[in-house]
Amino acid sequence: MAGSFLDEDFGISDFILLKDINVQSFIDNLRIRHANKKVYTYIGEVVVSVNPYEQVAMYDKNFVNMYKGREIYERPPHIFAIADAAYKAMKRRGRDTCIVISGESGAGKTEASKIIMRYISEVTGVSGQGEVRRVTNILLNSNAVLEAFGNAKTNRNDNSSRFGKYMDINFDFKADPVGGHIDNFLLEKSRVVKQQKGERNFHSFYQLLFGADSAILSELGLSKEPQVYHYLNQGDTKVASIDDKTDFQQVQAALGVTGFSKEQKKTIWRMVAAVLHLGNIDYEEKDNDECELKSTSKAGVRKLADLLSVDEGDAIKTLTSRTVSGGGDIIAKGHSIDHAVYARDAFAKALYERLFTFIVSGVNKAMKVPNGRGELHSKATVIGVLDIYGFEIFDNNSFEQFCINYCNEKLQQLFIQLVLQQEQAEYESEGIGWVHVDYFDNSVICSLIDTSRTGIIALLDECCLMAGNVKDKHFLENMNKHLSSHKHYTSRALSKADKSLQPDEDFKIQHYAGHVTYKAVGFMDKNKDLLFQDFKRLLYNSRDPIVKNMWPEGKQKLAEVNKRPPTAGTTFKESMFNLVNTLKSKEPYYVRCIKPNETKSSSQFNEERVQHQVEYLGLLENVRVRRAGFAFRQKIDLFVSRYKMLCKDTWPVWRSDPRDGVIKILNSHNLASDVQLGKTKVFIKTPQTVFTLETKRQE
Ligand code: ATP
Ligand code: MG
Repeated sequence: MAGSFLDEDFGISDFILLKDINVQSFIDNLRIRHANKKVYTYIGEVVVSVNPYEQVAMYDKNFVNMYKGREIYERPPHIFAIADAAYKAMKRRGRDTCIVISGESGAGKTEASKIIMRYISEVTGVSGQGEVRRVTNILLNSNAVLEAFGNAKTNRNDNSSRFGKYMDINFDFKADPVGGHIDNFLLEKSRVVKQQKGERNFHSFYQLLFGADSAILSELGLSKEPQVYHYLNQGDTKVASIDDKTDFQQVQAALGVTGFSKEQKKTIWRMVAAVLHLGNIDYEEKDNDECELKSTSKAGVRKLADLLSVDEGDAIKTLTSRTVSGGGDIIAKGHSIDHAVYARDAFAKALYERLFTFIVSGVNKAMKVPNGRGELHSKATVIGVLDIYGFEIFDNNSFEQFCINYCNEKLQQLFIQLVLQQEQAEYESEGIGWVHVDYFDNSVICSLIDTSRTGIIALLDECCLMAGNVKDKHFLENMNKHLSSHKHYTSRALSKADKSLQPDEDFKIQHYAGHVTYKAVGFMDKNKDLLFQDFKRLLYNSRDPIVKNMWPEGKQKLAEVNKRPPTAGTTFKESMFNLVNTLKSKEPYYVRCIKPNETKSSSQFNEERVQHQVEYLGLLENVRVRRAGFAFRQKIDLFVSRYKMLCKDTWPVWRSDPRDGVIKILNSHNLASDVQLGKTKVFIKTPQTVFTLETKRQE
């Protein structure tokens, strides 16, 4: 079956061939394709995917075979084709590649990444080696594990990834997977202690309560009723599309496959249970502005101490006070109720975050390329898959949205650079003249955020390091002072006419994808990410070596603790720099995911919402960049075999030089002036020429 570019009934399968490039024609095409269950459409080699919100039968073995080893244009658009292009680049040309998947929450990024991973596991390991099978098995099972602990039901997506993920798959010289590595970014740990209406905590909690048998639950001191737990009863507890009970069994099995021992599995669930007990601890005031545990919380603390294998007395002390050093003395300073609640929640978030990190590193250990004698893997090549949160604009945007949107600025920058670079490189290697393309360079926004000393993150850090009672308001003033003339930053103090901005509260960044107003309140707190040293010490002293090893910094004596850990903002910024460098060293492929509606409907197509996404994914710009040079390119021999029917000289078989064949075909239709012949490819400038060729072919 050959792909058809001009099947107008189903829309056009490559946006580059649209007659007019504007938002409306772009969206019209997506709408037609969506209505016809065409999930994928190309922009050159970029695949645009619209979430079908139903199972479309297009991922089975037959489809795998249809795309395996084929060129992108030989078949209708499919994510398999992109996966195969990345795989071929790796296999045939020894290139490291990466597939960057972007789009907003619920657009289908994680599903796309799983489809890619399944495709790769289907086309590799044909020789049936045990090791390859072991590795692909871990790769596939790692999803269930990471989703259990890192995904949650949100108002946008029943299975929303609350962390960013970059996964490398390593291949040996036979192009079989021999290992891998996962990097995770910014787990949304605030969810552990607080959920909005209609949302849930991370899946793991419900899986444990609904899935574990009563013997286990009683050992963990848990009730089957999520309503009992403060950390679970603020939002929903059940989700129609999710079967927590079955998922628990699956996750247990997947933990085994991904290399976790019985003891480790036990500790993992003990920690999950500990978080639930922690959330139910309440305080009451003593006479001196300090607090103590409510008597009803005592049993809970006992269980907590038992689950974490720490001393009960130490646990109580840590939950109600902190040690400070003053004038050479080390004393315990009691918490007020507010402080104690804050510290408890910080503890719960940190516990869960460490647990998540522990799980990711466990999976990584199991996927490590064995370096034994080394000969097998000396030429390991990599395919990286990035599944990371898309641009977010909520009614209330805080530090998390700020980080996420910054991440998208960095990726957009990379996209622009790489797509242009790649075009340029191809023209050069093919000996074709390069046409300069104008595009909006968002590096100015990246530096607004991440430049040293005067970038927003640096200004935030500066306030966080100041002594005294520094508030978020001061952070805002600090930005106003340094960024007043920046074109992409504003606040009420700087633009008094903008009544949408609350004085002393809001600041606005003009992102490449649109304006976002951020509430400064909470930025400092989230950036400091404070966890009292006492908690670290408590866990470092755990009798459970697995828990103890998660908290190496608890070893420090109080007097030694003077260096503050890097702030959350700076840590995130550094991880973005690393990520960009990793991606830059690879040949990129892009999957741009779009969510057609807010109701998870398989038929609805909400134009306004789609338009918004098309704009902020920069898809039109992408089409323009691609068209400014050459709209279309194809290998010379493929061109001849596709269009030889259009010329009596080349039909039915053309045995001479294929380059002459191309010229004969083009001349017979007066199209030669629009086409250049590179070393291996035919480059066509205007889409109209492709239309003409395709139309004649169909006639
Ligand atoms: P988030 O940023 O919240 O993690 P996401 O972009 O990763 O969102 P997914 O979890 O991949 O979104 O997709 C959301 C839901 O959409 C899936 O649970 C599934 O029901 C549906 N879906 C996505 N892609 C497909 C597909 N190719 N075929 C069928 N259904 C899909
Ligand atoms: Mg996801």
